[in-house]
Amino acid sequence: MRIVLLGPPGVGKGTHGDELAKKLGIPKISTGDIFREEVKKDSELGRQVKSYLDRGELVPDEIVIQVLKERISKPDCQKGFILDGFPRTLKQAEELEKITKIDKVINFVASEETIIDRISNRLTCKKCGAIYNLKFIPPKVPGKCDICGGELYQREDQKPEVVRERLRVYKEETQPLIDFYRKKGILLDLNAEGSKEEVSARLFKLVGL
Ligand code: AMP
Repeated sequence: MRIVLLGPPGVGKGTHGDELAKKLGIPKISTGDIFREEVKKDSELGRQVKSYLDRGELVPDEIVIQVLKERISKPDCQKGFILDGFPRTLKQAEELEKITKIDKVINFVASEETIIDRISNRLTCKKCGAIYNLKFIPPKVPGKCDICGGELYQREDQKPEVVRERLRVYKEETQPLIDFYRKKGILLDLNAEGSKEEVSARLFKLVGL
């Protein structure tokens, strides 16, 4: 199954995408994670994209499309994949159509209040990238990752002024994709309000699990 997760930053696509990927036995691909990894490695790609990530702006389409193409051509994607954070512009969605067929697009829907609340309480593990939320998914030991013991921190792009910019960019560039996929008849709306367990249960039902 080839699935796209659509929705504003902070709505829970990453957390639920990881869980769904595990359940379906297919990889979850996050272009944001790929870029953050490259920035950490200080690779040429990382240096190219760093300033966009720091400002909460979109990386140019040509770069993202190339990265995505390479990633989904890997053998682990043959049985399917979950895309988290791609496509984000109409151009990316059109290019994706040329490369592969998407079966389902899950549209995560939550109020702006919920999103800002979630994102501003979010902590990420420096070592393995696991995501926590001080209110909803707290770590067992404060400041430490349950999985690898790594240090938890607030990502630069989760600070309020950058969050506001990411939400603005989402509305302008990515929201039009909702119509694009709805017209194709593959869009499924997911109520992303409530606890992690509630949203998980709705998501699994939506994809027929
Ligand atoms: P994310 O973790 O998905 O919110 O992505 C973090 C950052 O990576 C975004 O704010 C963008 O700067 C960049 N990025 C990730 N995916 C894309 C994409 N599909 N198109 C453009 N920029 C992207």
